[in-house]
Amino acid sequence: MKDAKTQTRIHAMTVDVEDYFHVSAFDGVISTDEWSGIEPRVGKNTHRLIDLFNEHGVKATFFTLGWVAKHCPDVVKRIVDEGHELASHGTNHRRNTTMTREQVFADIKESKDLLEQAAGKAIKGYRAPSFSVNTSNEWVYEILKELGFTYSSSTYPIEHDLYGVPEWPRFAYTRKEGIVEIPIPTMRNNDKNKGIGGGGYFRLYPYWLSKRRIEAYLRSNDQPYNFYFHPWEIDADQPRVQNAPFKSKLRHYVNLHVMEKKLTKLMQDYRWSSMEEVYADVLAGK
Ligand SMILES: [Zn+2]
Repeated sequence: MKDAKTQTRIHAMTVDVEDYFHVSAFDGVISTDEWSGIEPRVGKNTHRLIDLFNEHGVKATFFTLGWVAKHCPDVVKRIVDEGHELASHGTNHRRNTTMTREQVFADIKESKDLLEQAAGKAIKGYRAPSFSVNTSNEWVYEILKELGFTYSSSTYPIEHDLYGVPEWPRFAYTRKEGIVEIPIPTMRNNDKNKGIGGGGYFRLYPYWLSKRRIEAYLRSNDQPYNFYFHPWEIDADQPRVQNAPFKSKLRHYVNLHVMEKKLTKLMQDYRWSSMEEVYADVLAGK
């Protein structure tokens, strides 16, 4: 039996709004110059997600690329009009670890301007593409402060081949730069942090196993859970990128056809809201 706390607690539902051709896994295969020649699918997929969330009474945070605000402004406006939280995922999905400080500043500022223009509302939250904030570029938080952000959800404290600082905090905290960082959730296993935040593992594992891991997290930590995924994960018909490395393709394409069903179960089994609501206390400095 679940205890009362895990049943009533509200968790954060988050979506990284990008198209299938933006993902870091296809970086070397599809260049930024080629994007304008590809038919975007992110608008349609995000509309579908908003429908699903509305159907289940779920409010979510959409960390959205400036590129999406430029090419699909209608969906960005709908996110805000229907009471969800709009936040930034940078402009062009370039990892911060591959850019200079000036380039990161320009990328984040452009995304904030584009999103605010499309939505008519101030943007407070930021998630770095592919969790690309680590000990080499903590100045990203100074940039966020300067640009008027209040929080970030850009770190995944795990060991991973592409990202992560395992020794950084596992739960929401206020950094010295004055920005609240809300890490992707992890569970402790054999003295290591294992990622349980969503993404590819949620598609790969059967739903009961993902749920068991979430339950274990909730039992051992007096903290809300937060979940992330992408609009392309419910799009089983997306064009296949031919020349990508095998591992990237495996991660990207596994179980796309069952994602919507799993998400529906997840929405039914827990209570969900946006980052700004779930973490309101820590964002208010309490
Ligand atoms: Zn992303």
